[in-house]
Amino acid sequence: STEAPAAASALYKGVENVVIIGSGPAGYTAAIYAARANLKPLVFEGYQVGGVPGGQLMTTTEVENFPGFPEGITGPDLMDRMRRQAERWGAELYQEDVEFVDVKNRPFTIRSSEREVKCYSVIIATGATAKRLRLPREDEFWSRGISACAICDGASPLFKGQILAVVGGGDTATEEAIYLTKYARHVHLLVRKDQLRASKAMQDRVFNNPNITVHFNTEAADVVSNSKGQMSGILLKRVDTGEETILDVRGLFYGIGHTPNSQLVEGQVKLDPSGYIWVKEGTANTSVEGVFAAGDVQDHEWRQAITAAGSGCVAALTVERYLVAND
Ligand code: FAD
Repeated sequence: STEAPAAASALYKGVENVVIIGSGPAGYTAAIYAARANLKPLVFEGYQVGGVPGGQLMTTTEVENFPGFPEGITGPDLMDRMRRQAERWGAELYQEDVEFVDVKNRPFTIRSSEREVKCYSVIIATGATAKRLRLPREDEFWSRGISACAICDGASPLFKGQILAVVGGGDTATEEAIYLTKYARHVHLLVRKDQLRASKAMQDRVFNNPNITVHFNTEAADVVSNSKGQMSGILLKRVDTGEETILDVRGLFYGIGHTPNSQLVEGQVKLDPSGYIWVKEGTANTSVEGVFAAGDVQDHEWRQAITAAGSGCVAALTVERYLVAND
């Protein structure tokens, strides 16, 4: 860029070093590192997910793959620990959604419902939201039979050895279906269209796997439960004939994609064709100097708590370097 980066000088009174937007593993990890580097980070935690800070893991029960917790830990407990760690080192936390961001003018402007702050750098860690089908009984069975993450939940006792279904026809759904065959007794792939959208290679793997049955022209219409209130099946509806049947499964996985929460900076920083914030490979650097991105909002591939935390660390360390270089 030909634009001179803002100097962290006394010129701008009351300008923050760094503002972090988001309170998932990426945001809190960035906050811990930035606070320990004495940058006095200000964190807008947001309340979009369930009205509480902490991000996507607030909606799950056991997290079994975050290193350091050999017996597993609940999502809310893990996020509470990250939050307290950030606070302990002096990060200033606001439970407010950011409503407006201006990174075209320096210093940058960040505005929530309650306040407006100026800053030299910003870390966007607003995450992504798994797309849902909005089935009538979806909320009742979310995390109790319905999941949006095969890697996270596939091996859990709830699903292991069971017959499961995956919804979707793209790469995500086919990958989830193949992954789940490692643990499940059988996997049904429910595809609305009359063909798969996934790559040829993924299609071959699905069609050659005897543990996957593909149902074309089929959508999941609702969850069916047994007398104990557990998921016992799903109501299927043929898209072409409208015919309804019940498929006996104990779990339903959504593989219909994620929506990155990048709207705040749309038109100001470069996004990829799916709306994820573009970062230079292997870094947290966006297309705008001083604006960094971490976690699921810039990661359409891995979307794990540990990768989000790792990228939050990279973002904060990069901010530290950036501020020193421009002091
Ligand atoms: P998120 O966790 O999505 O957090 C984003 C944060 O940004 C939220 O706090 C949100 O409120 C905030 N935000 C958004 N917009 C604004 C705004 N305008 N202003 C202020 N704040 C805003 N991963 C694992 O590794 N292991 C698991 O077992 C596992 N289980 C999962 C179970 C479920 C049900 C789900 C949905 C996901 C699971 N994941 C798991 C994936 C993991 O949760 C994500 O990869 C991780 O949370 C991404 O972290 P993040 O910090 O990028 O974003």
